[in-house]
Amino acid sequence: MIIVMEANAVPEQIQQVSSKLEEKGFQVHLSQGVERTIIGAIGQKTATTMELFETLPGVEKVVPIAQPFKMASREFKPDNSLIKVGGQMIGNGQVQIIAGPCAVEGRSKFLEVAHAVKESGATMLRGGAFKPRTSPYAFQGLEHEGLEILAEARQITGLPVVTEIMDPRLVNEVADYVDILQVGARNMQNFFLLRELGKIQRPILLKRGPSATIEEWIMAAEYIISSGNEQVIMCERGIRSFENYTRNTLDLSAVPLIKQLTHLPIIVDPSHGTGKWKLVEPMALAAIGAGADGVMVEVHQNPSEALSDGPQSLTPENFARLVTRVNKMVMALRATEN
Ligand code: PEP
Ligand code: MN
Repeated sequence: MIIVMEANAVPEQIQQVSSKLEEKGFQVHLSQGVERTIIGAIGQKTATTMELFETLPGVEKVVPIAQPFKMASREFKPDNSLIKVGGQMIGNGQVQIIAGPCAVEGRSKFLEVAHAVKESGATMLRGGAFKPRTSPYAFQGLEHEGLEILAEARQITGLPVVTEIMDPRLVNEVADYVDILQVGARNMQNFFLLRELGKIQRPILLKRGPSATIEEWIMAAEYIISSGNEQVIMCERGIRSFENYTRNTLDLSAVPLIKQLTHLPIIVDPSHGTGKWKLVEPMALAAIGAGADGVMVEVHQNPSEALSDGPQSLTPENFARLVTRVNKMVMALRATEN
């Protein structure tokens, strides 16, 4: 349930409500808004609990949280969550452009593409060291060597780095090398992995499962948050539908929906979302138009030779064009706000 304090409630009253909640076995989460304080309470409420809290001084109202997700919900925390990554922020209106190859294929190749995307305006780097491949015979990633390369690229370019984590046993090791840990679509409901990621204080990019409903996806975020890590960034990457012309169907309605239902930032991945490089730029623009906090796109210096996801990878030249157009889109949107 949520306890909404009156706008003029004093700190002693907020303290009294919090102590009472703790006494009754609730977990307390304070959200200090500009106007008023909201107290989120997680625990077993009885029929009379809500009435009891409504009688305390300074309390405006007590409302139950209708959704199955609590800590991720907008009701629980009305203000947007801002997630700090390196010197940058996700969720504050700034648009992030995360770019790089699907997989780290080798040191010089990765450093080359990292320099190219930085030059064009990428704000973060991506690259998979552990690759979740449909076939066990396909390239599985450079694993530990890939992490070393990512860390070097991060040091040289100064850009924060995102990589996928698949194995719960490697959470701390991967966290030593990169800034954001990505949960891939196939692992969205790997609850053991989600719980482990809840134990570290590092941003998590949580991809939507290919067949996950919005509610299931937010529940996955709830696993991480309720385990102790509030730094969750949602990532829409397309879902399975009857349509075969595209690899997945990019559900852009997820962007405003996630913003309405939760306080979490959301990034869109039009590369996996479409599977076709020619669709990446238009869908990136649409994602920004829909209110996304950024896009994540795959870039390869020679897509036809890529070890994974070549057909959806942009060349550095096409990426440069995407950045120019995304930035123009951001400016046009800002102009509508004034
Ligand atoms: C990736 O980002 O390269 C990836 C494997 O994505 P997804 O989990 O969305 O398929
Ligand atoms: Mn990929």
